[in-house]
This record gives sequence, C-alpha cells and structure tokens, in this order.
Amino acid sequence: MSAEDADVVVVGAGPSGVASALLLARAGHRTLVLDRARFPRDKACGEGLMPSGVAVLRRLGLLDSLVAHGAPRLHSVTYRMVGQPVSTTAAFPPPPGGGPGWGLGVRRLRFDAVLAEALRVEPGVTFAEGVRVISPQRDAQGHVTGVITEGSAISARFVVAADGLHSPLRAAAGWTSPAPRDGRYGLAGHWRVDTRDIHGITVGFAGDHEWYQAPVGPDELLVSVLGGRHTIGAIARDYARSAREALPLPEGADLLGRPLAAGLFHQRPRHVAGDRIFLVGDAAGYDDPTTGEGIAVGLLLAERMAVHLDAALSERISRSEAAAAYTRDHRRLWADRRRLTRLALLMAGHPRASRRAISRAATRPAALEVLLGVNCGYWGFGRLSARDWLSLAGI
Ligand SMILES: Cc1cc2nc3c(=O)[nH]c(=O)nc-3n(C[C@H](O)[C@H](O)[C@H](O)COP(=O)(O)OP(=O)(O)OC[C@H]3O[C@@H](n4cnc5c(N)ncnc54)[C@H](O)[C@@H]3O)c2cc1C
Repeated sequence: MSAEDADVVVVGAGPSGVASALLLARAGHRTLVLDRARFPRDKACGEGLMPSGVAVLRRLGLLDSLVAHGAPRLHSVTYRMVGQPVSTTAAFPPPPGGGPGWGLGVRRLRFDAVLAEALRVEPGVTFAEGVRVISPQRDAQGHVTGVITEGSAISARFVVAADGLHSPLRAAAGWTSPAPRDGRYGLAGHWRVDTRDIHGITVGFAGDHEWYQAPVGPDELLVSVLGGRHTIGAIARDYARSAREALPLPEGADLLGRPLAAGLFHQRPRHVAGDRIFLVGDAAGYDDPTTGEGIAVGLLLAERMAVHLDAALSERISRSEAAAAYTRDHRRLWADRRRLTRLALLMAGHPRASRRAISRAATRPAALEVLLGVNCGYWGFGRLSARDWLSLAGI
C-alpha cells in the first residue's frame, strides 16, 4: 500500500470523470472522485448522446440502467431551415464493427445521477460530493502530488481533471489558453411534450443561431439554442417566446423550469497530459456543441486515458510515455471531429449555403450520413466521394 490517500484522484463526476474512475478502479487502482456538486445536479446540455458514446456505456455495463431510466433512442438527425419549408433527415449509419447504431436522449439531471450512483457502488472507488478542488498540490520540486480542496490536501500518484469546460484545475495548473472573445454560448430548456413519436434530433438553422430538439423522456423535449453572445443574450430575455416562434412546438407544450446557460465553448488547453495530470472530457478542450459529440468524446477519452494511466500506475510504461500516448490519442480522436465542427459552423453561418445543402440532401441524404459516421469516429473525411462534396455544396 502506498502512502498516498489514493492512487488516482479524479476531479469531476460528469460522464468523463465517472468513466475514468470506473475504469481505473476496475484495473485495480484506488480511485477517489471529488465533485463540488451534490447529485442529482443539472447541467446545460443538448442531451443528445451519439452512438459512439452509447457503445462506451455498453462496454462499461451502464447502458441497461440508463435505458431503464427512460432515455429514448435516437435514430436520425433532421436538418431544417427555421421559418422555411426546407428539411432533410439523415439516419445514423450502422457502426462498421457492429454494436448500437443509435444515440440516446439523456436528460442530464437523471443521466449524471445514474452515473454518480454507479460510482457509489463501485468497489475501489470513493466518491465525495460537495468538495471543491482549488488546485494541484505540488512538492518542493514543483511536481504534482495530489490536489488541494477547500478543506484539505489530498495526495495521489496521479490527478485526472474531468472538471468541465472551464476546468478550474487546468487553469490552476497554468494550462488554460485564452478563449476567443467572439465565442459562442448556449441555452437549454425542457418542455412537456409527448415525444413517443419523435425518434431523432432536429437541428434548425436560423442564420446567426441554431435550435436543437431531442426527446429526453416519454414526455420531455430538450430545446437548446446556440449562437453568439448578443443573440443568445437576446433570446435568454424571453426564451419561451423565442422557442415558440422558431419551432413547431405542439399546442399546449409547457416550459418546465428555467433554461440553463453555458458558454465560451472554444477552449484549447496548452497540454492534455503531463506532470502527473491527465485532462479528460471538456477539460481537455472543446470546440462547440453544434455536432453534439461532447459526451461521447469525453467517454472515449476516458477509455484511452485509463489504458495509458493503468500502464503507468502498473509501471509497465513511464509517466511521460503515458502522457505522450494519451496526447496522441486525444489528437486522433478529435482531428476529424474538429474539422466537422468547423464545416458545421461554416454552414450554419451561411443560410443560403445551408438551405442549398439541405434541399439537395432531401433527395440524396448519403453525404450527411457519411458525415454522421465521421462524427461517430467510424471513418474519416476520405469516405466522402466527389459526388458527396457536390451535394453538400447543394449542387
Ligand atoms: C448548450 C449545450 C449543448 C450541448 N449539447 C450536447 C449534445 O447534444 N451532446 C453532447 O454529447 N454534448 C453536448 N454538449 C457538451 C456536453 O455537455 C459536454 O461535452 C459534457 O458535459 C462534458 O462532460 P464532462 O464530464 O467532461 O464535464 P461536465 O459534465 O461538465 O462535468 C464536470 C464536473 O466537474 C465538477 N467540477 C467543476 N469544477 C470543480 C471543482 N473545482 N472541484 C470539484 N468538482 C468540480 C462539476 O460539478 C461537474 O459535475 C453541450 C453543451 C452545451 C453547453
């Protein structure tokens, strides 16, 4: 038994932190998870989990309990122009290696609570809620030896920062780069709507912003909106009226509670691993929620991080080899998804181009289906044929 309080301390019990902790504990490492919140806690999110994330949940043995908590399956994405009779639907393609070819509508209040419960019952994990982490703890040489919380210092051989988009731990480690000033923001609200006949995500392009809808329970529809600071600020003044004007919400749909806001999405840390710290999930950098891959990539990153950190903890590889291997995996997992996000934002910002592409895809959705496969990591952009590129250009 080592002298440290834990082998690994994981900061943050969102999807990335939970997956990291379960995997490290199952590999035999004493894992302590700290979250400043107490669960259930809510989180602004578009709540569409991509099929690649569903596959991770299945590998973790958590899928059945999430489905039992009412998360509906999502089979497709419909793209529409707000206020115009132009739309097209693309189905999620089957994963090349088999497995679930559908996403899930995950109401974060319930989803994250089920994940937190999985932590509580996992042997090898200690989960402490309501504990805010302030910074890494360092020894006299400046090496990380654990974390400092509001109340105490906790020593560990490694620290995993899964503390979200604005990761306080990343900032305290000096790894946060300044975000662009013209960053984007989002609002997410829930409506009481009978969703039993809704089986996909809908994205509505509205010029300088986009609306997203997804069923997250049999009678709950998520309605989120993304855009620049001023646009989202204006919508936030009367979110319910703006949503009713922009979307075909059924007569009698009620807004449940107040919408949650989040923003300044574009975050690129200087490093994702090194000096005994590993960043996973949003803490490891993020571009924009427009393609809805954040939770899935967080789960996939947790899997890769756990492989390399397990090897380092078991002294099969060195700390620096583990950090380098994880950095490579992080780059590989994000590379095409980042290109896709740039393409999606380009289209969203040019209504004439998006209208043309949607009209063309209505008769030929194949190119959009290839892009959904890129977003799931099934293949790269090389899969798009010249004909696909022409149809995305509306030709
Ligand atoms: C409007 C909007 C729409 C989105 N739409 C989608 C979508 O449709 N699909 C999708 O997959 N993703 C979407 N995302 C992105 C998704 O929400 C994130 O990618 C995902 O939540 C990242 O998970 P995480 O575990 O990395 O971090 P989080 O879920 O943010 O969890 C971080 C945890 O760290 C804890 N924490 C923070 N600071 C500290 C501290 N100092 N000490 C202790 N604990 C701390 C927090 O309490 C929190 O529980 C959207 C995001 C927004 C804002």
